Amino acid sequence: MKVSNRLNTINGDGDDGWGLFYRSRKMIVDGVKVTELTIGEHDIRTDKSILDAMHASAVGGHTGYAMIPGTDALRDAVADRIQTRTGIPTTRDNVMITPGGQSALYATHLAALDAGDTALFIDPHYATYPGTVRGVGGIPVALKASPDNDFQPQIDELAAAAADPRAKSLLINTPNNPTGVVYSQETLNGIAQVCKDHDLWLISDEVYDTQVWDGEHISSRTLPDMAERTMVVGSMSKSHAMTGSRVGWICAPADMIAHLINLATNTNYGVPGFIQDAALFALKAGDALEAQVAAPFERRRALTLQALEGQNVVRAVPAQGAMYVMLDIRATGKSSWDFANALLDEELIAVMPGESFGSAAAGHIRVAMTIDDDAYVDAINRLVAFAKACIT
Ligand code: PMP
Repeated sequence: MKVSNRLNTINGDGDDGWGLFYRSRKMIVDGVKVTELTIGEHDIRTDKSILDAMHASAVGGHTGYAMIPGTDALRDAVADRIQTRTGIPTTRDNVMITPGGQSALYATHLAALDAGDTALFIDPHYATYPGTVRGVGGIPVALKASPDNDFQPQIDELAAAAADPRAKSLLINTPNNPTGVVYSQETLNGIAQVCKDHDLWLISDEVYDTQVWDGEHISSRTLPDMAERTMVVGSMSKSHAMTGSRVGWICAPADMIAHLINLATNTNYGVPGFIQDAALFALKAGDALEAQVAAPFERRRALTLQALEGQNVVRAVPAQGAMYVMLDIRATGKSSWDFANALLDEELIAVMPGESFGSAAAGHIRVAMTIDDDAYVDAINRLVAFAKACIT
């Protein structure tokens, strides 16, 4: 039977960029002891208190169909969190609960684009972005943020791409996966101006908002006159180590949320009630729990910088957030694919080639800081020794 063109071409050239990750997983299944620094998954599990709340809710009967836009209590808690952190008036009418940030990315693009419209995003980018855009019938347009500019997008280039009348949305991600870069106020102001000048929706992926190591997270909804054209994607995955629970949200203008609820009604039909109750419990647990979940990444980032001292073959991209470090390995003379594949074969260390996230990250690798400190430092030391051996 024929598969629709939209689905058949969802991965573009057919490569989803995760080849090295699949290879390392296969090695692990075959019994090889690989040190995995690939995916954005915490080395701790969801806190037991959150699981207890989930269990109590399920046993208490919250296993039927739940409110499709999210329970009132959870929507209120998310709205409260956003209003407290941003100062922008936010009510439950601005919030829809989603099965994770990934489905929120899909829903927001479906809401912003008609078939054949173009969706702008910044390269390097989270691996699913182009597929998400293709999945809603849009045309992905990647705009390069160069290592020469510390991976901050260049506003004049955004403006030139936004001038195409088919452009309907701009997707940004700060703190950024894969680079760890946090966009400056100046960059964000420029982005806001481009969106206003060219009537674009800004889709702001803020799933790493609790992982900022220098300065503060700036939500795009706080930019001047942007709340009416911004859809923020949020998630409990990274902030509360709840990746498997699949719970996140969209924060957007109330009339857009009403449309998005129609989409949810006709697609996923909402998020299970016991998961929503667990998320509510987690949010009510307050900032201390979030800080506890984020702390290992800040610590390991410092350990990374320490381990890189005294040599200049491997350089860390100056990064302010998220659970990754991006390492510049151009001095080895190897491409990011060759380096990562050889590192896996020879040192049994799996990292993501920069180019899995777009061509702007050529010559870089992304390291997920997601194993315990001692093993992590050992892996970075071996990675550096391997890099040095490449040029001797
Ligand atoms: N956006 C970014 C930038 C991510 O890195 C991820 C997950 N790695 C997501 C969205 C999706 O996260 P989730 O669906 O678990 O909320």
